[in-house]
Amino acid sequence: LLTVRGLHKSFGDNHVLRGIDLDVRRGQVTALIGPSGSGKTTLLRSLNGLAVPDAGTIVAEGVPGRRLALDFSRKVTDREKFALRDLSAMVFQQHNLFPHRTVLQNVVEGPVQVQRERRADAVERALVLLDRVGLAGKRDAYPHELSGGQQQRVGIVRALALRPELLLFDEPTSALDPELVGEVLTVMKELADEGWTMVVVTHELQFARAVADEVLFLDEGVVVERGDPARMFLEPAQERTRQFLRRLL
Ligand code: ATP
Repeated sequence: LLTVRGLHKSFGDNHVLRGIDLDVRRGQVTALIGPSGSGKTTLLRSLNGLAVPDAGTIVAEGVPGRRLALDFSRKVTDREKFALRDLSAMVFQQHNLFPHRTVLQNVVEGPVQVQRERRADAVERALVLLDRVGLAGKRDAYPHELSGGQQQRVGIVRALALRPELLLFDEPTSALDPELVGEVLTVMKELADEGWTMVVVTHELQFARAVADEVLFLDEGVVVERGDPARMFLEPAQERTRQFLRRLL
């Protein structure tokens, strides 16, 4: 779905991404792990145009009518950036729901305002999605009336409602109380089983092991090691990976 090559990004003299290659394959789950500040979030944001790399290429293929080839070493147009953004939907660490809108209003906002879908159609789809994550009964609740785990499930539904090709998750459980983490990971696992293409920044190694097809270990803006999680967690090839995993496992 996406072929990423040689991605570089600096903030001032902070060289955050130093030549990242990544293949996002349709129907696969890619987990990004690594220490704080290693560039995971910046890489994720680069995949949907929220961060604009300084160099490198992102090519999107296999989307009917939408072959995209962005080369960040020349000027990327807004049109190209928006086209890239349209491919994916992001689930953030904090759910970012509109506080003064109900659950249902939050979910239909994107499809109606951005994608110009008929409100009745968007509502119908939203209710199906809310039902799937066990929140149909909360359609008229406001975000503050929900638990953190419920809010995050609404955040996932809001992303699904946009019908993206790709789901991006930025540490979706790291702001949650431990007892609420499971319900969110369960929904994510179901989405993976259904064949959604997902890129997930996570510290949940058990989840990565159970769900990811490929894990990338980032450190200081480079991919130190990548591969099958079962193999990598058991027998990391690189000393830096070994040290990182030892601290987490
Ligand atoms: P964490 O696990 O803590 O979220 P991360 O691996 O996701 O870390 P990034 O969030 O990508 O790392 O940040 C990498 C570096 O880039 C950090 O040093 C951070 O301070 C810097 N950085 C990220 N975004 C910006 C920004 N918008 N402006 C300036 N510096 C930034």
